[in-house]
Amino acid sequence: LMQLSIPLNFIGFVYREIRQGLTDIEQMFDLLEVQAEVVDCPGAKPLAIAQGAIAFKDVHFHYDPDRPILKGVSFEVPAGKTVAVVGPSGAGKSTISRLLYRFYDVQQGSITIDGQDVREVTQKSLRAAIGMVPQDTVLFNDTIAYNIRYGRPGASDAEIQQAAEVAQISHFIKDLPEGFDTKVGERGLKLSGGEKQRVAIARTVLKAPPILILDEATSALDTTTEHEIQSALDIVSKNRTTLVIAHRLSTVVSADEIIVLKGGEIAERGSHTELLAQNGLYASMWNRQREATQAEEMLRQVRESD
Ligand code: ADP
Ligand code: MG
Repeated sequence: LMQLSIPLNFIGFVYREIRQGLTDIEQMFDLLEVQAEVVDCPGAKPLAIAQGAIAFKDVHFHYDPDRPILKGVSFEVPAGKTVAVVGPSGAGKSTISRLLYRFYDVQQGSITIDGQDVREVTQKSLRAAIGMVPQDTVLFNDTIAYNIRYGRPGASDAEIQQAAEVAQISHFIKDLPEGFDTKVGERGLKLSGGEKQRVAIARTVLKAPPILILDEATSALDTTTEHEIQSALDIVSKNRTTLVIAHRLSTVVSADEIIVLKGGEIAERGSHTELLAQNGLYASMWNRQREATQAEEMLRQVRESD
């Protein structure tokens, strides 16, 4: 019994982690063939991607019936456009990305991609069409090359190097003693959050999915790293339908539409300029973040003049 219960506990732990969206969903599902919450419906067809337009229609969702998370959320991400979702912590932002990836099913309303309900297509085809750069990437205990190639097994070394360049991580890799053959992960070289995220971006560049979900890390990155990641993301999301769960002002500013989520509902929506003019929740979030950035900048100057 002991022999059996330990691995089960471990899988239970990993499964909870996955459900929290803390780990790289795609790779964990592949690593352990964990029984997911949702299954393919009888006769499910592969998703046929035309343009990659996403539509949430009157989406209601709860994890626990006593606590609704989304209460009738509707928005569209037109093909090739970028929509950013912002809002207080716990507002349900990451839940939106989990629903699009069909980690869970909505209880009311629908989510469609090019008019096809995500519940009616095969999960394999759905997940092949979506590239997810999660909040927190877990790397395999293997080489950097392996971790990037995971995005498209069979990619050549040259393609891997190209992807690393787009993700602004190739200089960092080339400076390592073993370059792309450097072992990373828990048992290898430990990478910083920003470095891991750029490896995940390189993997997604290689996968080249028509739809992209970016769940940005909340942890404060230094300004240089933030700029590097931002320019990598700008390249990856160009002409690709992109849903950003945004914490960084730079992403939000250039989004085609910003959705402000609060209390399970869309409180405000519009472009950055429109939302600033409304002088509501978004404007106050923006001002608060700007003050925080200015304070950081002042602190840095004080430290440097010491
Ligand atoms: P955000 O990304 O906006 O910070 P989330 O979408 O992660 O918020 O979570 C929304 C709410 O749902 C939070 O209150 C969170 O605690 C809760 N929640 C998230 N995942 C689960 C889960 N697997 N089971 C129960 N509650 C959850
Ligand atoms: Mg989140």
